[in-house]
Amino acid sequence: MSISENLKFFKNELPETVSLVAVSKTKPLEDLEEAYKFGQRIFGENKIQEMTDKWQHLPKEIEWHMIGHVQTNKVKYMAPYVSLVHGVDRIKVWSEIHKQGLKNDRVIHCLLQVHIAEEETKFGFSTEEIKEIIARKTLLEFPNAKVVGLMGMASNSDDKDKVRAEFKGLRKLFDLANELGCDFKVLSMGMSGDYSIAIEEGSNMVRVGSKIFGHRNY
Ligand SMILES: *Cc1c(COP(=O)(O)O)cnc(C)c1O
Repeated sequence: MSISENLKFFKNELPETVSLVAVSKTKPLEDLEEAYKFGQRIFGENKIQEMTDKWQHLPKEIEWHMIGHVQTNKVKYMAPYVSLVHGVDRIKVWSEIHKQGLKNDRVIHCLLQVHIAEEETKFGFSTEEIKEIIARKTLLEFPNAKVVGLMGMASNSDDKDKVRAEFKGLRKLFDLANELGCDFKVLSMGMSGDYSIAIEEGSNMVRVGSKIFGHRNY
């Protein structure tokens, strides 16, 4: 299947309320150009350097989403243009995004990444930490790194019940945050292997790579 056929599939497959982030990490510019020609306007990358190179070469109306783990010393390179940072997983990086937002006279939209998978390797705040952040009103401390929602990655597992339970937990936290006065709009969960479950559990933004661009060669 070609990139445009895959995008067409997703256009039909996804409810209108769900945004599609086309995860183009490791893929060449030609692949992104093809997706762009077919109408895709949101691209997700996990390395700031690679994303910045692509941003420089492609039409400026594209929205760039940083979906990976962010190194504090590289925030400055994406601060002038990034549309949404999904992987805010510690206070230090959040505060740096705020600082760089101020410098660039921008409010940079962010998602707090929540650790919902069992695997040790996945980054993110715990549910308890998110509750503390809300209780302590930390959200008010970084107005130029405005949190607009939550992001999570489920376990990389064939156990669908487990994946579903992890997404359900994140949705619960998202609803609780809004009950406590947060104005969260974006719930970013679901990738190529689990986006349907994620949508059933309330996701309104999915990050899809291999099901659009094919497998990645690292
Ligand atoms: C790579 C990546 C994706 C996309 O993964 P696919 O399985 O190829 O769809 C989504 N989210 C994050 C955080 C990623 O790093």
